[in-house]
Amino acid sequence: MSNKSAKHPQMTSYHARLASFDKKSWPHNKDTFIASPQALAETGFFYDPRPPSFLDRCVCFYCGVSLVGWEQTDFPRHEHLVHSPNCGFLEQPKKRQIPKFQQIYRQHFNELRQKHRETERDSQEKVGLIREIVFASLFEESSSQEP
Ligand SMILES: [Zn+2]
Repeated sequence: MSNKSAKHPQMTSYHARLASFDKKSWPHNKDTFIASPQALAETGFFYDPRPPSFLDRCVCFYCGVSLVGWEQTDFPRHEHLVHSPNCGFLEQPKKRQIPKFQQIYRQHFNELRQKHRETERDSQEKVGLIREIVFASLFEESSSQEP
C-alpha cells in the first residue's frame, strides 16, 4: 500500500485517526458499540462530523468513503468493505476473513446481551473482554501477511 494515493494522507497513522475521536464529541457509547473509536481507527477511519445531521460521520483516510448512522452491532471493517470494496487499505486476505469474524463477533455480542443483564457495568466489562479477544485474533492473522 502506498500512502501517496491516500485521500487524507495526514490521517495515515493509527494514532492520528484515534486522536480525531478524542478532540470532538463522539456520540456513541464507547463501551457497548462494536464500532468503538479504536475499532474504527484500526480499520482506517477518522472522525469528521458534519453537524447537525451527521454527528457520527467517519471517513477512511485511504479511499475517502464516509459512513454515518453507526448502530451498536455494526462491525467497522465489514461496513468499510460493503461500502468501499476496492479500498486499498483493506487487503485481499483480510477480506475473506471478515464474514467469519463478523459472524463470531455478533454471536458473542448477542449472547452477552441476552445473558448478562444483571448490571450495566458487568455487561460492559464482558463486551470489552470479547472485543479484546477478537481484536487480538485479527492482529494475529494479519501480522503474518504484512511486512
Ligand atoms: Zn477505505
